[in-house]
Amino acid sequence: MLDSTSHSRRIAVRPLPPARGPQLVPAPTSSEREHPLLLPPRNRLLGALPHAELAALLPHLELIQLEHHDTFFGPEKPIEFVFFPETAVVSLVNTFEDGGTVEVGTAGCEGMVGLPVFLGEPISAVSVFTQIPGAASRMDAATFAHLASAPGALHRMMLRYTQAFLTQVSQTAACNAAHLVEQRCARWLLMTHDRVEGDDFPLTHEVLAYMLSVRRAGVTLAMRALQDAGLVRYTRGRVTVVDRVGLEGASCECYRVVSAHFARLLGQVAPCAD
Ligand SMILES: [Zn+2]
Repeated sequence: MLDSTSHSRRIAVRPLPPARGPQLVPAPTSSEREHPLLLPPRNRLLGALPHAELAALLPHLELIQLEHHDTFFGPEKPIEFVFFPETAVVSLVNTFEDGGTVEVGTAGCEGMVGLPVFLGEPISAVSVFTQIPGAASRMDAATFAHLASAPGALHRMMLRYTQAFLTQVSQTAACNAAHLVEQRCARWLLMTHDRVEGDDFPLTHEVLAYMLSVRRAGVTLAMRALQDAGLVRYTRGRVTVVDRVGLEGASCECYRVVSAHFARLLGQVAPCAD
């Protein structure tokens, strides 16, 4: 189980910049200690590390702001950095030869992006981009590979996260092949709701169609059904989860299967906003 209660000291970082695009926030200097950020980090993987291992990572972590649809690595491209989302949510997307797309995985405060680095082959097979804007910590891929290969809590945690993420990817593949669009919409909304602050987040029917690899008209019908049932509210490019329990009932089993695996391997994923 993740233990995020064992660290309570504060570190200092600069406030996140408002500008668009991936914005690197330089490591703080001693004169910038007046802007504290609470430890443990919101990222649950980092927050679960023993104090000594987290302290060893901190000098190599850079806090950045990820904006909507920032792409930070593409298929068959070398991975230069690994990312630990704090408040951002990212999507891993497969693109077919005909240009079609489908989301194969997601990561937020419960996880990280850059597993191929840990596994020794720092080449991405998928595109990764920001779904929900927010903060993330990043680390140079070579440094992370070196630190995570050493025996210790980080290595063990990354093994567990790899298993959990593989479950998410395989269940998503099964879901995309077998379940109804409305059920898949509910699953996607629940997974995103788990990883954001509050009950609403930006979403368009175009993006959801892109994520689920279905026609926009199908997503529109599915979202209308969920809204008519009083489970969500959709206005001006934002969706609000109104009835969380009802939405879980509208989802296929895949949400529960993946959540159970994450809980068993890494502790509860939701809610990250605590
Ligand atoms: Zn499903």
